[in-house]
Amino acid sequence: MNILILGSGGREHALAWAVMQNPKCDRLIVAPGNAGIAKIADCASLNAEDGGAVVTFAEENAIDFVIVGPEAPLAAGVADRLRDAGILVFGPSEAAARLEASKSFTKEICDAADAPTAGYGHFTDAEAAKAHVRASGAPIVVKADGLAAGKGVIVAMDEQTALDAIDDMFGGAFGGAGAEVVIEEFMEGEEASLFVLCDGEEILSIGTAQDHKRVGEGDTGLNTGGMGAYSPAPILSAEVEARAMEEIVKPTMRVMAERGMPYQGVLYAGLMIKDGQPRLVEYNVRFGDPECQVLMMRLGAQALDLMQAAAEGRLADARVNWAEDHAITVVMAANGYPGDYQKGSEIKGLAALPEDSMNMVFHAGTKAEGDKILANGGRVLNVTARGDSLTEARDRAYAMVDQIDWPEGFVRRDIGWRAL
Ligand code: ATP
Repeated sequence: MNILILGSGGREHALAWAVMQNPKCDRLIVAPGNAGIAKIADCASLNAEDGGAVVTFAEENAIDFVIVGPEAPLAAGVADRLRDAGILVFGPSEAAARLEASKSFTKEICDAADAPTAGYGHFTDAEAAKAHVRASGAPIVVKADGLAAGKGVIVAMDEQTALDAIDDMFGGAFGGAGAEVVIEEFMEGEEASLFVLCDGEEILSIGTAQDHKRVGEGDTGLNTGGMGAYSPAPILSAEVEARAMEEIVKPTMRVMAERGMPYQGVLYAGLMIKDGQPRLVEYNVRFGDPECQVLMMRLGAQALDLMQAAAEGRLADARVNWAEDHAITVVMAANGYPGDYQKGSEIKGLAALPEDSMNMVFHAGTKAEGDKILANGGRVLNVTARGDSLTEARDRAYAMVDQIDWPEGFVRRDIGWRAL
């Protein structure tokens, strides 16, 4: 089978690594890929958000199966173009991708599904939004409706912060994404994520994870794209996971199908859990980055069979072959991230590290120059390990971190602290 993966981050390196373990894969191309991916697959330059270009590329390269990594191509309808062309694809339609691309859409679907989530109002007018904030009081959460790369959400602990956020959003701080604003009740609890595959009808859990969004130890400091993650998430016990499935995920998928937008691909449910009750924070229509790295580390080669089963509508017969294992990923980022940082510093010591089913360094923002690997982004490497316990996995991951010679980078030393 010839496979094309769209994307270029640590998430796509982890997907490529899992796919390559599976003997079914004859050839793998990743577009655009990165320096780590280039060691295990062919990389091609391609505008992943241009559906026509992706279809032409897939046809020219005899691609049998396309796996879409990031949300932007999905929101741009790339999966629809591939399906129209008769090419098997893993990822939802543009219509179904609105579960991530529009917060008010998701809220309305949750209403129809009777899924537990924060109470909300949505507004296209600043004065009405402010009146709602004044009536409700703080803490309260203000969100730009559209995609804003994780930056369009303000958790306001006081009323003035919420009112200022409304002015910023309607003032165009997030472009078109802020033309509509969702204001939500503040939910207390602990956050964790549930990942499921859907084939339009059937749903299959492929694991749980927790990530660390803040740059500083003890979950302090600025928000980032994620400084590390681990799987499974202890807070999502079998019982809580079953509740999330029955009360949130299944009813959502049913409503999507009833409305003519059957969901196919991976659905990432961000949950807030308090006293054993999960409530939905958000849906994403793709794997999380870095959560994908720990899920792939645990699933290995079967990830390809499962994604193919979802794309072909065969999930009813699919099973996950679970091991009683744990995985952790530690993000190495460039000094200064998530603020200003330098690109181009050399990373040494990677060649001596193990690369096997227990230890992998996935590349995010890197580039190769001759034999050298250079930093080329904010989040640069995802040092990932598996073990019989989270402690074992963590110790293995940090042992690798300590062998990497890159003074221009940093890690958080406490990934997994909540679970440990
Ligand atoms: P990202 O891409 O970073 O996940 P996003 O833009 O899709 O972000 P959300 O996931 O909706 O935004 O919100 C970001 C974060 O804000 C959540 O992970 C959560 O910590 C916090 N948050 C969002 N909504 C609420 C809420 N109603 N109550 C409490 N915290 C919330």
